[in-house]
Amino acid sequence: MTTDITSDAGTSSPSRAGGTGIRIDGLSKTFHTGRGKTVTALQDTHLHTDKGSFLALLGPSGCGKSTILRILADLEHPTTGEVFVDGKTPAQLRRDSELGIAFQDHALLPWRSVLTNIRLVFEIAGRRPDKAYIDELIQLVGLTGFEKAKPAQLSGGMRQRVSIARALALKPSVLLLDEPFGALDDMTRQNLNLELLRIWTEKPATTLLVTHGISEAIFLSDRVAVMSPRPGRIKKIIEVDLPRPRTPDMMRTPEFHALVDRASELLFGSDGRAAAEA
Ligand code: ADP
Ligand code: MG
Repeated sequence: MTTDITSDAGTSSPSRAGGTGIRIDGLSKTFHTGRGKTVTALQDTHLHTDKGSFLALLGPSGCGKSTILRILADLEHPTTGEVFVDGKTPAQLRRDSELGIAFQDHALLPWRSVLTNIRLVFEIAGRRPDKAYIDELIQLVGLTGFEKAKPAQLSGGMRQRVSIARALALKPSVLLLDEPFGALDDMTRQNLNLELLRIWTEKPATTLLVTHGISEAIFLSDRVAVMSPRPGRIKKIIEVDLPRPRTPDMMRTPEFHALVDRASELLFGSDGRAAAEA
């Protein structure tokens, strides 16, 4: 086990120029599923990102993507290994309200409005709601005029926008997004990806996005981590050297297609067959 990670963790300020970002080292996670049976979801996973960078995680179903995010969110604990973001443990990040989380099934409270669902995170964190900032976020995600609407009165895409606004409300330094737009149709997804990109550009946070969309992973990210089937490991990191700001017409360039092909090949193999039974 490396010792420099531990010493980094002891300092509250990032030790290197540009900060430390996400540092996952030797992470393994084994679940006990009863009757002495176990599932090894992650085995000796390493992943480092830069502070303020956007990383997408791609991988076959069941390879441990959500487990990585849940560990970073302090919702699960590592079996072995260490996880730090900007020198802080997930528990510290959570305590300091540095985490913004939006998961696919992250339900909004049905009896609360758009406004009061977003306000909830301030209540949970014991902070005074920042009314001006909440208004700004509602505008940022394009929901001005819907402040008083209840989730049932909104479309699926609009509900996901509320989730994103809520994830951003405490100005987190780390954004964890687990297939936030997974259940939506292609058009809505595409639009929300563009919005997410705009929001991230305006309010940069160290972002980890789990997605099964190869194109969207390339389009949004600085780096794309491709995982192997369970037990999950990071198989390869693809550096996305497309310039920013990213615009939709970039998706039609040969450079973009070459990156998508590389990711597909890593995921499915060059013969197009999935490398996973999972
Ligand atoms: P992914 O998000 O990549 O689809 P997950 O991280 O959700 O994968 O799951 C990885 C593996 O760990 C899967 O085989 C899953 O069934 C298992 N797993 C995840 N959470 C639990 C749990 N709480 N108990 C038992 N097994 C789990
Ligand atoms: Mg998952």
